[in-house]
Amino acid sequence: MTKIKEITDFLEEIAPLHYQESYDNAGLIFGDQNAEVTGVLISLDLTEEVLEEAIEINCNLVISHHPIIFRGIKKFTGYYVDRVVAKAIKNDIAIYAIHTNLDNVLDNGVNGKIAEKIGLEDLEVLNANLNLSDDGRVGSGVLGRLAKPLAYHSFMDHLKKSMELQVIKHTELLDGEVKRVAICGGSGSFLLNAAIGADADVFITADFKYHEYFDADRKIVIMDIGHYESERFTINLLHDLLNEKFRKFAPRCTKVNTNPVKFY
Ligand SMILES: [Zn+2]
Repeated sequence: MTKIKEITDFLEEIAPLHYQESYDNAGLIFGDQNAEVTGVLISLDLTEEVLEEAIEINCNLVISHHPIIFRGIKKFTGYYVDRVVAKAIKNDIAIYAIHTNLDNVLDNGVNGKIAEKIGLEDLEVLNANLNLSDDGRVGSGVLGRLAKPLAYHSFMDHLKKSMELQVIKHTELLDGEVKRVAICGGSGSFLLNAAIGADADVFITADFKYHEYFDADRKIVIMDIGHYESERFTINLLHDLLNEKFRKFAPRCTKVNTNPVKFY
């Protein structure tokens, strides 16, 4: 049998907890690390629907990218976060988050997975954190190169197809072709200057605010593809890593689309 700790130890070899940002809450949030795993369900977000799915298919460990709890909880009075946590406790389902620590690793990380989907080569960390690792393979964002440069419109067609997007919000297109591509899954506006500094032709990320789009300033093209859309393949990344390592059970990917943003 496999214990929860064996799984979390493995995940923390890939993405050590001390690689997470100071505001984050990655790691085991609820559960007995010595409990035996009946099954693992992987999701981007932890919602009541995901927990219901875990109960139905007998998984007592849910691994999500985003932590359900960011701040201290003082009261359980029916806010959606309280309801999810209470449901996990009642049903004895361990909850584990692998968040900015997984964002911050180049090998087997969130941004490397996006780069792989898009088919980028020569990957490097966009904003390396040398305090965490001297080899430059830990930090935020990724920079990569297209094997064959593409015109901007062709690149957007390719991006839509490879990331299964309905829509791309972007700034004014520039002359020339797309060769160098910067990526930050999720909210990445804090890396815009790093992407410009790295001479990227486009910056693929999410959650840009209206006024922040002006900061592209004809130096780069911002392509905002949506938070969920940019990170959803993290589920497959985690599935494949666990599936390869643990042969005694098959990890499951959630069937619930947890994207809170809908399009009409
Ligand atoms: Zn995210």
